[in-house]
Amino acid sequence: MREKADTDSDVAQAGTLFVVATPIGNLDDLSPRAARILATVDLIAVEDTRVTRRLADITGRLPRMVVLNEHSEQARVAELVAGLVGGGSLALVSDAGTPLISDPGFRLVQAAHEAGVTVSPIPGPCAAIAALSAAGLPSDRFHFEGFLPARQAARQRRLQALVERSETLLFYAPARDLPVVLADMSEVFGPDRMATLGRELTKRHETVWRAGLADLAERVGADSDQQLGEAVLVVAGSEQVRPPIALDALIRALAAELPPSRAARVLANLTHLNRREAFALIESARQ
Ligand code: SAM
Repeated sequence: MREKADTDSDVAQAGTLFVVATPIGNLDDLSPRAARILATVDLIAVEDTRVTRRLADITGRLPRMVVLNEHSEQARVAELVAGLVGGGSLALVSDAGTPLISDPGFRLVQAAHEAGVTVSPIPGPCAAIAALSAAGLPSDRFHFEGFLPARQAARQRRLQALVERSETLLFYAPARDLPVVLADMSEVFGPDRMATLGRELTKRHETVWRAGLADLAERVGADSDQQLGEAVLVVAGSEQVRPPIALDALIRALAAELPPSRAARVLANLTHLNRREAFALIESARQ
C-alpha cells in the first residue's frame, strides 16, 4: 500500500511545519523526501544560512531562509507561527542531524501545536541514534543525556547522578573534550564499564571504538587525531541491582538528616557498599 508519505507529501503542504533531519556529515544521507520538502516549502528556518546553503547542491534550489538559533528563537516564533496559520509552509532544520535534539526548535514546534498548525517530521540522521545503532551495547532502553557541563565539578556531579541508571547512556561531546570527559566517566562509572565512542560518524575519518572506559580514555589520549571533530559516547548502564526498599528508606533518611559525606560514611558502615557507591546513592537521594 502506498502511504501518504509516498504521494501527497512529495511536495510541501500549505500551513504545515516540517521538522527535517539533515546529514551529520555525509551529504548523501539527505533523504530524497527531505530534499523535495526543502525545495518546495515557502521558507526554511535554519541555524546558519551558510551551512544549510550547502544542501542546495542536492535539492537544486532552496527557498528563503530565516535564522532561528538559541538567541533568536524566542523573538521569531510568533512571526513564523503567524505565517503558518496564514497558510505558508515552513521547514525547520538545524546545522546537522535532527532538529530539537540538543538543537533549537522546541519553542517553535510547541507554539505551532498550540496554534493548531500541522507538524510533520521528516526523519533522518541523528548522531545519538547512529552511534547507538553501531555501539554493540543494549539498545532496548536508553537515556539521552546530551552535552555534559563544561566545568569539571558540575560534570562529575551530573555523572554521579547517572551512576546507578541501568539503561544505556548517550552523551554528546566535541572530540576535543574526550580526554577529560572519558577520565571523569572512568572515575565515576568505574574503569571497566563498557562504552563505545562514535566520532566523525558518516565522515571520512570515522571512528567506532568499543572498550572499557579506562581503555577508551587511554586510546583517545594517545592519539590526538581522535580529539578532532564531533563525538558521541554510548556508555553501558549500571549492572548493580537496585537496593531493596528498606535500604532505599535508610538512604533517604540519611540524605535528609546529614551532610552528604557523613551520610555516605554512615551508609557505607551499615551496608556492603563502599564509600563511593554510598556517596552516589546519597547524592541521588538529595536530588
Ligand atoms: N541535532 C544533532 C543530531 O541529531 O545528532 C545534534 C546537534 S548537537 C549541537 C552536535 C553534537 O552532536 C556534536 O557535538 C556531537 O556530539 C554530535 N555529532 C554531530 N555530528 C556528529 C558526527 N558526525 N559524529 C559524531 N557525533 C556527532
